[in-house]
Order: sequence, then structure tokens, then C-alpha cells
Amino acid sequence: MDGSKIEAYLPAIPRGIFIEKQINSALVGKKITQTSWERYYTGQYSWQGEIINGFDKLSDQTIIFADASYILTDKGALISFGCFDNGLRYYARGETINPPKTTKSQGHGYHAKLFFDDGACFCMNLYGWGTFFKLYAVDTKLIYPNGTSKHERYPFLPKAPIDVTDDEDFTYNKFTDWLSKNPGANIIENCSTAKGAFKIDNPVMNYILLTSKIHPRTKTREITNAETGVLFDNTKKLINEYKNEIRICEHTDIYGKTIAPHNEVLRMTSSALGLPCPVCGTPIEATPITAGTKMYFCPACQIIKK
Ligand SMILES: [Zn+2]
Repeated sequence: MDGSKIEAYLPAIPRGIFIEKQINSALVGKKITQTSWERYYTGQYSWQGEIINGFDKLSDQTIIFADASYILTDKGALISFGCFDNGLRYYARGETINPPKTTKSQGHGYHAKLFFDDGACFCMNLYGWGTFFKLYAVDTKLIYPNGTSKHERYPFLPKAPIDVTDDEDFTYNKFTDWLSKNPGANIIENCSTAKGAFKIDNPVMNYILLTSKIHPRTKTREITNAETGVLFDNTKKLINEYKNEIRICEHTDIYGKTIAPHNEVLRMTSSALGLPCPVCGTPIEATPITAGTKMYFCPACQIIKK
């Protein structure tokens, strides 16, 4: 590593599950011929900087790993990125490269483009505090520890405290250990949110809490072993349904296509307020969780424990 710790910008699940598959199959094995970092919109602030050091030196490097957060080359260049939904685009040879732009941002808008030797291009749209783009130099000894690279996922890449998509990582014991570290926190904060174990979108995590009959503001120490078991099982089941595409969340794919939801859960957002609970039909209510943030729940299914 070049001394700087790799920062993480982890895409929220379930969208990340779908994007990751596409990015992996589109980018791995491609050789970079050229890159470009372009400011396309001038705002009041600059979030990303006018230059990304080293980004113009990636030609002749081959992508050996790519997911929804990282692109790694055979020479140890690592791009860590985060874009809003709709911010990633892949163009095959001959397609018009016309990536999405923002005009609403207070800051500059940038496009980071990678051009490949087969004529394809991958573009990341970056603007505002919610986007992220960093380039690191990883020691190639970490990539090829035994002379060859066989890692499915490199150990130096940051992960969520618990990778909920990995059955080996997401175990009941690991989950209860995690919860026991912060017994005074609301259960929603220990599961999703910035401090949570899983990078699951709050609206989806709140749906899991609904089906588990646990109020999002229940203090973690008040949750029984039986409830923890139900929460664990329901989380695993739902994530596996997304992984197996039994359920699909609405998202824009890297080809710019809007993918319609399929068997999607009731996303517990402000748009669910007043709608009937999918379990019992009681209108969904809201509760404030931290400054400015609300969580949505069913007042009949999810009784808060005092
Ligand atoms: Zn209900």
C-alpha cells in the first residue's frame, strides 16, 4: 500500500448485489488503453479535485478484479469509487459515450473514464459529497502472495463489519457478537446505518425488522435470543432471494437500462407512510431515530420495548 489506508465507500444492498455482477463481468480481463478525468460541470465547490494523481498512468494495465466499489489492475492500481444510483455506465465499442450528468449539484461534476483495448469504455459520474473516487497503489506482493493471484476477494479491500452476502462471514455467532458490543444502541443502528454491521439500505432493513416483529428503536439489549434468531434468519433469507434474483430491486444498470422491481419488498420510506402493513394491514407509521432521520414501522407488528 502507499501508506494511506484504503477508504471504503460500500454500495448499499440490495442494489450493490445487482451492480456488482454486471461490473465484474464487464470489466475483469479488460486492458486499459487510456483514462480521462473531465470536469463537465462547474459548481461552487470542488469535491474531487482537478487531478487524480496517477489516473493518467493506467494504460497497459489489465483489470484483475472489479466489483461495485473497487477496480484493481495487475500492476497494483486500485480505484475505490462510489457513485449515486444511475452514475455508472459501460459502453461497448461503437456506442455513443454519453454518460449522465448533474446540473443540480453545488459542486463540480466530473466524469472518470476508463477506455479499453476492445473499444469499450466505463464511466463513473462524480459530483457532490455522496460520490467518492480515490486511486491507491497496492504493493503487488499483496496481490500475488504466492506468485499467482487466486483471491476471490483481496484481503486488503475493506468490507462491511459483516458481509451479509457471504454465508461464511454472516454467521449467527458473528451477528450476536456484533450486537453484544453495542447493547445500548437501537437495533436498526446496529444492523444498517453508517455504524451498522450490514451495508443494507435502511428501507430494506426496516422491512426485515417488520417481518421479524422488532421495532427499529428497540434497544439491542432488550432483544431476546429467539428474536435475534428470527432477525438473523429473515435477513439471510431475504438477501439470498436478492442474490438468486427471486427478488429484484428497482435500479439502473451499467448499460443505462432501468430494471423494474420484481417481488420487491415494501421499501420502508416516507412513501410507505400510511400504507397498509404487508403483514397485518395496519397503516405504517414513522419514528424519528437521529436528527433528521426517520424510520418506518408497523405499530401493530412492531411493539417497542421500554
Ligand atoms: Zn403489521
